[in-house]
Amino acid sequence: MPDYISISTLNDFIFCPYSIYLHNVYMGGDEELVHATPQTQGKTAHAAIDEKTYSSRKDEITSLSVYSNELGIIGKIDLYKGREKLLIERKYQLNTIYQGQIYQLWAQYFCMMEMGYIIEKLAFYAISTNKIFPVEIPTSEDKRELQDFILRFKTFDPTQPISVNINKCTHCIYCNLCDKIDTENVYT
Ligand code: SF4
Repeated sequence: MPDYISISTLNDFIFCPYSIYLHNVYMGGDEELVHATPQTQGKTAHAAIDEKTYSSRKDEITSLSVYSNELGIIGKIDLYKGREKLLIERKYQLNTIYQGQIYQLWAQYFCMMEMGYIIEKLAFYAISTNKIFPVEIPTSEDKRELQDFILRFKTFDPTQPISVNINKCTHCIYCNLCDKIDTENVYT
């Protein structure tokens, strides 16, 4: 059976490859020690989705496990509205949409299409502001870009030096546990 890459790991990788190592080291530890404010808010935001209590509409699917044999990825979607053929990824807060988040949504889209679902619209939903951010359906060029990114992940050399960006690090949930920098994150 081929190895599948988790869609959320791809998102972490684009943020900082070293964060994947820290996530795996600390994920079994005390959650309160590891979780910074954004992650706690994110968990709360996903609670109704994860517990499948978000909607009673029969055409709405929440927290569905998805996969793509073609791309070699697996993950979970937040919300699919069948009537609108709309796939939504919920975030607690969304000031900027990062490329990793776009790849996450594209990856979910390609998984669902391969599984036979019809999707005509994509969007992020910011819970804190109750705002919808529509995203274009990925083109075949976008798909190639995603495939190139997955290949970069697969061929990554973990022995190469990590580039430390202090602005990024202080907004990283693993900042306080990371041995690459001495400062604390902005959430403490
Ligand atoms: S603190 Fe910086 S170097 Fe450490 S995992 Fe986070 S982003 Fe990467």
